[in-house]
Amino acid sequence: MAGSDVTSIQEARALLDTGKISATELAQGYLDRIKEKDGTIHAYLEVFDDVMKQAKDADKRLASGEKGAFLGIPLAIKDNILIQGRTASAASRMLENYTATYDSTAAAKLKESGAVLLGRTNMDEFAMGSSTETSAFGATKNPHDTERVPGGSSGGSAAAVAGDMALAALGSDTGGSIRQPAALCGVVGLKPTYGSVSRHGLMAMGSSLDVIGPLTRTVADAETLFSAVRGHDRMDATSVPDDRERITRKAKYTVGVPRAFLEKGVDKDLLEEFERGLDTLTAHGVHVQDIKLSTIEHALATYYIIMPAEVSANLARFDGVRYGLHVDGRDRKDDYRESRGAGFGREVRRRILLGTYVLSSGYYDAYYGKAMQARDRIRRDVRTAFESVDAIAMPTTPAPAFKIGEKTSDPLSMYLEDIFTVSANIIGIPALSVPYGTVTRDSKELPVGFQLLAPELGEETLFTLGKKLTAEG
Ligand code: GLN
Repeated sequence: MAGSDVTSIQEARALLDTGKISATELAQGYLDRIKEKDGTIHAYLEVFDDVMKQAKDADKRLASGEKGAFLGIPLAIKDNILIQGRTASAASRMLENYTATYDSTAAAKLKESGAVLLGRTNMDEFAMGSSTETSAFGATKNPHDTERVPGGSSGGSAAAVAGDMALAALGSDTGGSIRQPAALCGVVGLKPTYGSVSRHGLMAMGSSLDVIGPLTRTVADAETLFSAVRGHDRMDATSVPDDRERITRKAKYTVGVPRAFLEKGVDKDLLEEFERGLDTLTAHGVHVQDIKLSTIEHALATYYIIMPAEVSANLARFDGVRYGLHVDGRDRKDDYRESRGAGFGREVRRRILLGTYVLSSGYYDAYYGKAMQARDRIRRDVRTAFESVDAIAMPTTPAPAFKIGEKTSDPLSMYLEDIFTVSANIIGIPALSVPYGTVTRDSKELPVGFQLLAPELGEETLFTLGKKLTAEG
């Protein structure tokens, strides 16, 4: 059996455990596929030089009778998640030559479990964007239509999975960066509860929003990958303790739909697919009802204050002195200016400026302070909704994949892409995007995503409901 015919981690696991395929054959299949397709798609910034060695090691462990969910499973990792001894550039000129000095907790867990790490995937620079076009190393293309974006910022990870160039991948989600590219590429994407996957070794964008999560072919795979990387970590002060009670499976579910919010600017045919998804849930015995979430329409504006504020603080460390790109200026101050000017792309600079502005004295109360109040209101509003429903459903994006270049000169239209995804990050709750249906653009069938949000630590609810949509259960 050829490695790249395998369609899920679950299937690969069974084949590896019964010896029907070796980790080496599986890995070779993916390397071949990458060679064949990635010249066009550009999902990877680097394919590692030791993939076959990792696979051979996995085969040895398998031969010795070792079992493990990820032993021999080929995965891709977003380029802002550190792997010791490997370049980690966050798709920025600033870190083009930076080598990670330690493993992120997520990568360490995967390495330990014997996963085969194929390479690091392309992304929007420092995870800022919704299209993977802000990468300093060129855009990634959507495998469903190479004239279109894969979404972002984890566009490389999504395209690698959708293009059959990795069995699954890790991404990061600050305002939608796992779910949005998952939706536009037709794969499953989970943004876990804030703090449930350690941020140790994830390059910080918005520290109160960031989380690592899986992009996979099936919901069951997202569940498996999430289990492999989650857990308390003393290296992350905001990490959720392992003894916190999680929401468990129920016999009957109620899903709420914030209809009034959806009527704002969603493509008609995409909304129809979403309605079909709701019908599928109903057919599976789920009760679907309308809910009011009056503050959620302020989530996007709130996010675009909080996130840049945190970005401006987090990216201050790239000063061209301690690490990262250095450009000589006339004096020390000029060194900073020159280094940061040359190292950061336009979008990153825009956000640093915006963040510095909203945090500056005199404007702090008007912008950052207000945004923090809005964050509280949205959180309370959503918590109230969860008193009567188990999950909230929304499309993942207002439209399918757009054309490369279509939105690059209009940042606001790019930000609007995030309208349905940012609230989960603002509140810290988990959200899942599953591919559900397609819409046609320029005679191409483009996938769209159905998004479910659950209360904190409610991932199980998302998996159970998600599987009903993907016909996995
Ligand atoms: N598209 C959003 C932004 O540009 C989300 C990014 C992310 O989740 N990393 O901020």
